[in-house]
Amino acid sequence: MPPRYLGVMLLKGKKVVAQRAFVYNKKQVMIGQIFELGGFENDALLLRLKYVIPFKKTMSIFKCDRCGAEFVSQAYRDIHTKTMHIANEVEKKEVLKKQLAGLMI
Ligand SMILES: [Zn+2]
Repeated sequence: MPPRYLGVMLLKGKKVVAQRAFVYNKKQVMIGQIFELGGFENDALLLRLKYVIPFKKTMSIFKCDRCGAEFVSQAYRDIHTKTMHIANEVEKKEVLKKQLAGLMI
C-alpha cells in the first residue's frame, strides 16, 4: 500500500472544525462546523491550509435543530441556522462569501 494512500485512510472519520465556509463532499460547511473527514485525497491539504482544525474533546457541541449539523459555539450554530434555513438566497450567498474570505472567524 503506498504511503500516500495510507495517510488518507488514517484521516478518514477524523472529526474536524471548519475555519471558513467551503463545499466538502458536495455539502456546504460553515465556520465552526464539526464534521468527519471522508478519507479523500485533499483531506490532509485541508488540515495543512487550516481550512479545518482537529476537533478536541474539550470543545463544546451545539446542534442545529433543523438539520442536525454540529458547531463548536452557539454563535456559529445560530449563524448557520439563520443562513441555511431562514435567509433568502441573496442573503445566504452574502454570508457564505464573507465566511469564505475568513471575515467572520
Ligand atoms: Zn441546520
